Amino acid sequence: MANIKRKIVLVGTGMVGMSFAYAALNQSICDELVLVDLNIERAKGEAMDLNHGLSFSSSSMKIYAGDYCDCTDADIVVICAGVNQKPDETRLSLLQRNTKVFESIVPRVVSSGFDGIFLVATNPVDIMTRVTYELSGFNAAKVIGTGTTLDTARLRYLLGDYFEVDPRNIHAYVIGEHGDSEFVPWSQAILGVKPIYDMLHDDSQRYKMDELKKISNDVRTAAYEIIRAKGSTYYGIGMAICKIVRAIFHNENSIYTTSVRLRGEYGLRKDVFIGNPCIINSGGANRILELNLMSDELEKLKKSYEILDESFTSINL
Ligand code: NAD
Repeated sequence: MANIKRKIVLVGTGMVGMSFAYAALNQSICDELVLVDLNIERAKGEAMDLNHGLSFSSSSMKIYAGDYCDCTDADIVVICAGVNQKPDETRLSLLQRNTKVFESIVPRVVSSGFDGIFLVATNPVDIMTRVTYELSGFNAAKVIGTGTTLDTARLRYLLGDYFEVDPRNIHAYVIGEHGDSEFVPWSQAILGVKPIYDMLHDDSQRYKMDELKKISNDVRTAAYEIIRAKGSTYYGIGMAICKIVRAIFHNENSIYTTSVRLRGEYGLRKDVFIGNPCIINSGGANRILELNLMSDELEKLKKSYEILDESFTSINL
């Protein structure tokens, strides 16, 4: 880390950004939090509102509305700026608009002299992370997207319910695009120390593959359902961002299905950012875990990869 104090600049103080900020305050995740938004008044109002909660928290965090010059000595720039999905709209449909937004953000962050880690949540997150990588010229380890971290949390919650096991003891992941082509590699899913396939085999009356498929489908469509019900999703992703930030500040070497640049894993080209288990520490995306996927799972990953690559190519960056 560049500083003794842990400093974050948050760009985009909408629902996602502020859910992260609120969680960060309650979890004392950093020492300084700077809020930047196109809507300067909004950033100022949010800073005031959060500061009024400071005395009720265990944090002595310094929170203020700022500008891109505040990125100079920041450790992490979290980007949540841009448009979000309307009901039944796909994440990919946001690409053109959010690329324009990032063209007005990333070069200004870099011009400040920022030398920390970018953490991107804006959708379509895998491609926006790649856009950040291309616009910044940073080393790939220092450009991370939230990827399928939230989807993995949704999966574990539902599996915990199904198997009646604490979700924290379920080691199952959603990988690929954070979007419609994401999937669960069930061959890699483990309950504590027991593979989920063995659970199905040993208690076939109780546990069924069809029900697991329904769970993975529910995970894939969760955002659509929430957006139809309440307009947008933000608490879960806000907490997911907090977890990744904590892993960076505490040099945790924790595993999250972040969006990371492939380095030849799975025989795929090196330039696509995609959700895959990755070890996160103070250096950012430290090590990608290449999974021993079954052939049908590898096919699904390739499909996701192609969608992400083609979509990126379509923006002519
Ligand atoms: P929002 O509309 O509530 O907030 C967006 C904010 O971005 C606004 O405050 C707006 O003023 C700001 N903004 C827009 N253009 C800007 C610019 N050029 N510079 C600085 N700020 C700018 O939207 P939201 O609900 O907070 O969603 C933000 C993004 O997060 C969306 O793309 C959404 O799809 C995405 N999201 C991602 C995940 C995930 O898992 N990664 C989950 C939920 C939402």
